[in-house]
Amino acid sequence: MSKLLVIGFSFGYLALLFGVAYAAERRSEARKSLVSNPYVYALSMAVYCTAWTYYGSVGRAAHNGLQFVGIYLGPTLLAPAWWLVLRKIIRISRQQRLTSIADFISARYGKSAGLGALVTVVCVLGIVPYIALQIKAIAASFVTLTGSGAGVGGPAATTALYTTGALAVFTILFGVRSVEATERHEGIVLAVAVESLLKLVAFLVLGGFVTFGIFNGFTDVFDQAAAVPALRQLFTLHGSGTSGTEWFTLLVLGMSAVLLLPRQFQVAVVENVDENHLRKAMWLFPLYLIIINLFVLPIAFGGMLKLGHTGLDADTYVLALPLAAGHSWLALLTYLGGLSAASSMIIVETIALSVMMSNHLLMPLLVRVPAGRPEGQTRWFAYLGRVALESRRLAVVLVLLLAYGYYAEVGKQLPLVNTGLVSFAAVAQFVPAVLGGLYWKGGTRRGATAGLLAGFAIWFFTLVLPTLVGPGRLPESVLTEGVGHISALRPFALFGLEGLDYLSHGLFWSWLFNIGLYVGLSLAWPPTALELRQADVFVDVFTRRSLAEEITGWQGRTPFPDVRALLLGFLGKKRTNQALRAFADRFPDAMAPEADTSSPLTISPTNQLTTADPRLLNYAEKLLAGTLGPASARMLVASVAGAEEISYASVVGILKESQQLLEANRQLQKQSRQLQRLTDELRAAYDQLQALDQRKDEFLYTVTHELRTPLTSIRALAEILADNPDLEAEEQQRFQLTIGREAERLTRLISLVLDLEKFESGQATLDRTAVPVADLVAEALDAVGQLLRDKHITLHVDTPADLPVLYADRDRLMQVLVNLLSNAIKACHSDGTGRIAVLAWPAAELVLLCVEDNGRGISPAAQHLIFDKFFQAQNQTTRKPEGTGLGLAITRKIVEFHHGRIWVESALDQGARFFVELPLLRGGITQNDPKRHAERSEASLPQ
Ligand code: ADP
Repeated sequence: MSKLLVIGFSFGYLALLFGVAYAAERRSEARKSLVSNPYVYALSMAVYCTAWTYYGSVGRAAHNGLQFVGIYLGPTLLAPAWWLVLRKIIRISRQQRLTSIADFISARYGKSAGLGALVTVVCVLGIVPYIALQIKAIAASFVTLTGSGAGVGGPAATTALYTTGALAVFTILFGVRSVEATERHEGIVLAVAVESLLKLVAFLVLGGFVTFGIFNGFTDVFDQAAAVPALRQLFTLHGSGTSGTEWFTLLVLGMSAVLLLPRQFQVAVVENVDENHLRKAMWLFPLYLIIINLFVLPIAFGGMLKLGHTGLDADTYVLALPLAAGHSWLALLTYLGGLSAASSMIIVETIALSVMMSNHLLMPLLVRVPAGRPEGQTRWFAYLGRVALESRRLAVVLVLLLAYGYYAEVGKQLPLVNTGLVSFAAVAQFVPAVLGGLYWKGGTRRGATAGLLAGFAIWFFTLVLPTLVGPGRLPESVLTEGVGHISALRPFALFGLEGLDYLSHGLFWSWLFNIGLYVGLSLAWPPTALELRQADVFVDVFTRRSLAEEITGWQGRTPFPDVRALLLGFLGKKRTNQALRAFADRFPDAMAPEADTSSPLTISPTNQLTTADPRLLNYAEKLLAGTLGPASARMLVASVAGAEEISYASVVGILKESQQLLEANRQLQKQSRQLQRLTDELRAAYDQLQALDQRKDEFLYTVTHELRTPLTSIRALAEILADNPDLEAEEQQRFQLTIGREAERLTRLISLVLDLEKFESGQATLDRTAVPVADLVAEALDAVGQLLRDKHITLHVDTPADLPVLYADRDRLMQVLVNLLSNAIKACHSDGTGRIAVLAWPAAELVLLCVEDNGRGISPAAQHLIFDKFFQAQNQTTRKPEGTGLGLAITRKIVEFHHGRIWVESALDQGARFFVELPLLRGGITQNDPKRHAERSEASLPQ
């Protein structure tokens, strides 16, 4: 393909990126953000997939089968945990205004400048080769596409150089525009998201072309590959020679890289707009990884099958396949996809590294220079601010120059294949300090520093040193005999450990020392006050608004103008005034001029405030941390306020206090829950009373109603008798009889009501004696004998002779049985088919009685109502004179007074079966039984 065309498209594409970024910035200024949504967030995370993914996965798949999947499977497996881990990192970083992984580690361990610098150095050394790999990918893809030579001075290297230059300009323009690193870079984020989309689409189009254009679908590719023995073994997890340990290592490296690589920290933490975007990103990002890996195997197999004989490097299959098929436009699209993958990685990684380098390597040195006289302060600080910004721009250039230099000088001779993994292993050294820092308050600066140093040294020894072996560089004997011919110092078999692949070997030793020293030294030496405070702020970021954050050792004697000068220098007038106003809103008392507390919110440059509140110093420090990193910010504030005197005792005291506060809070919550429960109970009791009251009213109403009917008829008959003295004797007698019967009914009703009332008020007494059940039944049947005979009812009685003797109130039980029997008789049909059975059984500690009839039955709905007062089942349309609706209510009361149970089994027209269960009650005293009564029962108990 024509070189000019490819170059034209490359730069046209970069110009497009500029346009996208510019548009996003404009929209952001107009407060119509294009990037504040979870989709852009998830896509920007896909900066994880670099040119190494784009070209390299196919290469790896061609040699090692499925092994490439490990790097993507790790993040996928970890994604569900993001809600815990990543969200915590985001929350802390926002609260503390942290803008890089170096900031994060430095801030956690007492805002240590040394640790920040160490992390920065590890990142730069670990990642510059990785950036170089991207540049190499750009150059190599250019070579493949145009068929030109790959010499350093050749067009490929020149394209790579110009591309790198363009990316530097892009990064400087959109990535390091303001001194405040906390500021989000919407332009960059959108550009990266667009690039992620493009590389995905390009790769899918190519994959589709290979699978369905060159071959006949997935089955065809795999079938053809399976026919070749060398390819067949790539199908299995083990066949490619990847051991279980290596798989594990790849997974772990992937997991740590997706969280801790500087570029991932940049997009996932610093550029995060809203924690809730994580929810979608948690499945969108893994989905992206799965989709982009779908066609890796088909392309790899396709390449091996079609181009294997040409001896082409498998990394170039992605471009060589469409070219070989004569589809140069498809090849161009693929090339642009690769360019996207490389450039987005270069951009984001460079921003992250440049901010780190400026904040942790340069600024800590500059802020130590004394600011001089007050008049010159603002100017000096403004100068420092400019230096911070310029140094970042410089760092961008420096990083890219280093990377280009590495590519041009070293990369030509060194195999770059595994550079990505070696970078991952470097970043993995942060895992103990970060995870420990998030969840373990005991981790200290000393431990983290020693662990990191040791881990880094071993990383270098086991993973970087071997790449330096070669003619003209290190001798081969370093690998075989060890450094200085000491066999314990062989880079691939450190301390004699053999049998592991080089990556697992390196990770094992580096983590062993890293974790060991981190934990060991943290336990051996107590943390300083500042470390203790930071530990508390980090670990407890979710659980409570940490009191520790308010601990400040700054002096209240610092002149306010000095603090303002500091902020003015770095933030400028507008931002400083904004920030001071925000602070005054939050802590009105801290900004009140000493003499005049009535107008605390008028902060003007002429404010007569003379000394700065310690909280303001804390606030200023945090603002500056977003600009210079936590360590430099602290040193700067110290330069105006005097050393921060934060005493161990005060931190411990406040932490203890916050613990106590937490405990007190918990107690308070418990009490309020108890109170709530009591209130609920009270309300329930009140409701019950209310209901009872209403029932009482209803009862009274019903009773009076019931009493009126017989009274009315008595009065009417009496009046007739009085008004008609000459009534026939027979008639007169009939009336008198009716009056007598009605009066009788009245009496019965009243005594029933009185009886029931006695039970309900708990004043009923039981006169217990020994009651033989069979006798009781016989007597009750005697009482209703006439009624049974009148209705020609067949009777069946079964009361076994061995029934135990009940200890109960005989008259009351009679009442129960007679009630049940007369109900049964009433229910039976009068046509002579009526049948009633009375049965009794002994059971454990109780006697069970049953009165059964074959009468009209009770509907299920009525069954639980019949025991209520005055309830008479619906089907009983005309009220018979003998019915009161009180019988079963009293029956139940009596049974319950005996601590028994009564229930019914019935269905309409199926008869009814009433069960009464009575405990034998050997001298039991219970609350329902009035005590004196129980005692009387006791006395007459048979011994
Ligand atoms: P009542 O004085 O009306 O009999 P109860 O309280 O004794 O009052 O009975 C309530 C209602 O239960 C009766 O009106 C009747 O409808 C129904 N009932 C009671 N026992 C039976 C039974 N064995 N068969 C059908 N219905 C019955």
